[in-house]
Amino acid sequence: MKKTTELYAGKAKSVYNTDHPDYLILSFRNDTSAFDGEKIEQLERKGEVNNKFNHFIMQRLEAAGIPTQLESLFSDTESVVKHLEMIPVECVVRNISAGSLCRRLGIEEGLELTPPTFELFLKNDALHDPMLNESLAVTFGWATEEQLTKMKQLTFQVNDVLRRLFDDAGMLLVDYKLEFGLFKGEITLGDEFSPDGCRLWDKKSREKLDKDRFRQGLGGVVEAYLDVAARLGIDMMGPVGKS
Ligand code: UDP
Repeated sequence: MKKTTELYAGKAKSVYNTDHPDYLILSFRNDTSAFDGEKIEQLERKGEVNNKFNHFIMQRLEAAGIPTQLESLFSDTESVVKHLEMIPVECVVRNISAGSLCRRLGIEEGLELTPPTFELFLKNDALHDPMLNESLAVTFGWATEEQLTKMKQLTFQVNDVLRRLFDDAGMLLVDYKLEFGLFKGEITLGDEFSPDGCRLWDKKSREKLDKDRFRQGLGGVVEAYLDVAARLGIDMMGPVGKS
């Protein structure tokens, strides 16, 4: 597989074309952003850590029967992925209250949510990712009803797999955001799963081990990501190019 021209540059990742029309290369940069790109910093090694973290998680999800875009690691900071036609809707599941849920509904942080909640947001930085519902997504053509049903089902399936995975490693999966796309007509999990797009707390101390460390200026961001990776047994030093 050969990397060719840049297709798109997002806030933390860049996407490149390859010599195969069905595949892209996802490049994880060290850029770390919060508040719709208002706060941006370079954090050393973050690109590599998230690339390898994402690869590990996507492999676990794939093994559990969830279709993902991930093909293989390409370099320390890059992965080969399927070329999806992205659906501009973010799916968020929450197991414990935090973040925008607390701000929006005046709820205290740290409450166990039973059953876990499911929310949709429009992927649009200029509008600060406004909250959506299924009716709006269908009427404005962002996704069909069938696609939304599948996305919701897969998002909860991810919860079943990852809640247990993190729990076994002494962590709480507080919430996370997923993005989906279409590959040859099939709903497929895209984007990334890393501590940049989820909340993870230590089970005992409830210490934050995710991007909230960056948002809240707590420091030790990449160190926390590496701690999470180590607890999961992810090899950060291993050879790249095999998956
Ligand atoms: N999230 C994300 N990208 C976004 C918005 C949210 O990855 O553009 C993730 C976020 O890291 C958290 C979950 O989705 O794990 C829920 O985020 P929330 O709605 O609480 O918003 P926030 O407090 O991050 O603004």
